Amino acid sequence: MDRRHFVGLVVASAFSPFALAKASPVAASALGNGISLITGGGANVVAFRGDEGLLLVDGGAAGASADVLRAALSATSTKKLHTLFNTHWHPDQTGLNERASRDGVRIIAHENTRLWLTRKIRADWLTGSYGPFAAKSLPNKSFYTKESIDFGGESFEFGHLGQAHTDGDLYVLAKNANLLVAGGVVSNEGWPVMDWQTGGWIGGLVAAYDRLIQISDDATRIVPANGVVLTKKDLQEQRAMYFTVFDRLVKMLVKGQGPDEAVAAKPAQEFEAKWGNPDVFVRASFKSLWGHYAPDA
Ligand SMILES: [Zn+2]
Repeated sequence: MDRRHFVGLVVASAFSPFALAKASPVAASALGNGISLITGGGANVVAFRGDEGLLLVDGGAAGASADVLRAALSATSTKKLHTLFNTHWHPDQTGLNERASRDGVRIIAHENTRLWLTRKIRADWLTGSYGPFAAKSLPNKSFYTKESIDFGGESFEFGHLGQAHTDGDLYVLAKNANLLVAGGVVSNEGWPVMDWQTGGWIGGLVAAYDRLIQISDDATRIVPANGVVLTKKDLQEQRAMYFTVFDRLVKMLVKGQGPDEAVAAKPAQEFEAKWGNPDVFVRASFKSLWGHYAPDA
């Protein structure tokens, strides 16, 4: 299944019980230190236990949110959701907000993510539109650069990753557990969405990888938006791949070439065996350069 198909299926699942029934079921697996990874809800959701209740990094898609919340409460032996991070505005990350808002949950996001959710969003990869959210479902604690909170005996640092996958991506680092939740910047299941229409770009994606690598050590476990948990070495390999594609695309752009020529040139050919057909990613990544580079005229 290529990434485009995968994204379409997941977005459809937010609105269609039938589509959801075909996806893998919501399930929890232990990450140690009382932390659980919830999969099958559209994107990875990470659940932490505290005396205050449950803390989640991302909430899954709306159509799966009841199952995700139930699985997370059960896996952590907690009674209620207390804090929810939105790592960015995408439907697979913010589908629990509406449900969470009924219970007065603290919802933390970068200010750009909050702003996107106040309006109707359209993007090439999105079926239909998304939002605007009702005021009560919006993140109620937003930030700009880097902050930290204590929860359940754990110290959480969270920071903005700049313009990368979108312009509101955040990471969450659980310092004691040495677990880094990377959000939408890191996909480990095929090519990611390069959401240039909400401020993402491939040069910024490479810079965000540099930031994540900088705050990791050899023992850090890194949770991507999709797929299995990674190490710092895996991040370094992915960073090299994205830089290679980025470098080739910039060279084509400054020569005055366009997105069709970029796709035809197969700038990600050596990565296709492992990552699948890159055409959607390459096209969007090329367009993402338009706001940052001009041809050498
Ligand atoms: Zn995303």
